Amino acid sequence: TANRETLGFQTEVKQLLHLMIHSLYSNKEIFLRELVSNASDACDKLRFEALNNAALYGDDSELKIRVAFDKAARTVTISDNGIGLSRDEAVAHLGTIAKSGTKEFFSALTGDQAKDAHLIGQFGVGFYSSFIVADKVTVISRRAGIESNQAVRWESAGEGEYTVEMVEKAGRGTDVILHLRDGEDDFLGGWKLKSIIRKYSDHITLPIVMKKEEWKDGEQVETDEDETVNQANALWVRSKSDITDEQYTEFYKHVAHDFEDPLCWTHARVEGKQEYTQLLYIPARAPFDMWDRNARHGIKLYVRRVFIMDDAEQLMPLYLRFVRGVVDSADLPLNVSREILQQSKDIDNIRSGCTRKVLSMLEGIANSDEAADKEKYAKFWEAFGAVLKEGVGEDHANKDKIAGLIRFASTQGDGDKQVVSLADYIARMKDGQEKIYYVTADSFNAAKNSPHLEIFKKKGIEVLLLSDRVDEWVVGHLTEFEGKQLQSVAKGGLDLGKLEDEAEKQEAEKAADEYKELLEKVKTALGDRVKDVRVTYRLTDSPSCLVSDEHDPSGNLARLLKAAGQ
Ligand code: ADP
Ligand code: MG
Repeated sequence: TANRETLGFQTEVKQLLHLMIHSLYSNKEIFLRELVSNASDACDKLRFEALNNAALYGDDSELKIRVAFDKAARTVTISDNGIGLSRDEAVAHLGTIAKSGTKEFFSALTGDQAKDAHLIGQFGVGFYSSFIVADKVTVISRRAGIESNQAVRWESAGEGEYTVEMVEKAGRGTDVILHLRDGEDDFLGGWKLKSIIRKYSDHITLPIVMKKEEWKDGEQVETDEDETVNQANALWVRSKSDITDEQYTEFYKHVAHDFEDPLCWTHARVEGKQEYTQLLYIPARAPFDMWDRNARHGIKLYVRRVFIMDDAEQLMPLYLRFVRGVVDSADLPLNVSREILQQSKDIDNIRSGCTRKVLSMLEGIANSDEAADKEKYAKFWEAFGAVLKEGVGEDHANKDKIAGLIRFASTQGDGDKQVVSLADYIARMKDGQEKIYYVTADSFNAAKNSPHLEIFKKKGIEVLLLSDRVDEWVVGHLTEFEGKQLQSVAKGGLDLGKLEDEAEKQEAEKAADEYKELLEKVKTALGDRVKDVRVTYRLTDSPSCLVSDEHDPSGNLARLLKAAGQ
């Protein structure tokens, strides 16, 4: 028609499509989960916009998702009466990828199919997964509140371009029509589609309906009657004992837009001053954009089962930004906005409740003696440890709890692996040792080979080896743990207390006297660059080392600050 336009996909979309078709083929049925998930999100968005504009519902307020198939046309259609897409939205959302982390994702690709499949999963497969089973996809959509002749028809064979044109559509919402590839006729059956929906989308809050089928002359034939395929009630409202691990896992994939199973979750109903339900998950892997402190946060807020918003950043502190899930409040008003959330005491309460819940879930795993939990905690620590460490300075109320969860590399640990807790360290302290010793450096090797460690090696005293960027921040805020002071081995006159050897000390004092002149000379030669030059008994192999004054920034911190331009 006259208004049809042909547009090119963004380069990244082309690349993603190609990869998706080739590396996700063995898991192709997930296209249905993705399309149902989008339909559900679209209904959530409509419900939210309609809170301030009930007219958007028109005469159609029963939100639902329909899955249908047509054997003769060889199509499968997923329809919803949600928010819909305008022409411009269709171009923006179905022709480009606007997600954060896109650049990192594409640069992480290896060309190895199995590895890349994994990465795509992590990145989020979404709408484009339709092309795994379809060689042509048609989307017909009408945005809520727009005239029936202003609907959009988007179509593509997934090869580099797509067309958009204005068409007529009677009802609001979106139809996604998949024209199946040769050999995909399996999906043209009610039994098959229903079993996929039950497997992946049972937790979807809206009804997913299909036509009921009955046996006629030895064949399954469709009737005119609708049947709801899923349970269609909010998963988090059900009691824990009625939810299987599989259902929790599928729900996670939906809320987190993740493809992999979560590492663990916690589900509870909180009563008291504030009444709310929390279902919070920890992913198995770090997202691409974890270091972007402005990236999505991933907690969905509901009020009495009505979706309010995604990324409700007020519900989790920054150092737990990797947590995903749902909070459903019984008390907040339905028209709550981001601005209101920022000043809400109720939200502060919910946030501290959720924070405690996540920390105690982590404690449970960290303190468990079971091998599976140990492995889980190690995996958690590898993915999110560096982020959790930020909490020591960020969350005063939970500082001790967080400190207990931190793991370090140490001179008595397992190479550069961060496996030693402060409690482990204290349990191994020498008789007469009063402090927890650590060294900071810009790499594990630099820490491990630091000349400051020589005296500790000699005396068999464990030293924590800190080399993450965030570690300076940790020791800046964490000055003691369970009554034991944390002490840098690279600072000041290093008082080893009862660990000190009287004879060594006297020898050093004698030497300082003897070499007074030399010390003065060195000091004059170095001028302003040093505060003092001393004789030390700390070193056993190296001739000299730099130490910083007790209250000055450590050498490593000074380097970091310099690198940051301060
Ligand atoms: P994601 O769901 O993670 O945002 P998708 O690739 O699944 O990514 O979808 C891309 C975007 O396309 C969605 O964010 C949404 O804006 C739009 N979209 C997809 N399906 C629908 C639908 N059924 N109704 C309205 N918008 C949709
Ligand atoms: Mg999606």
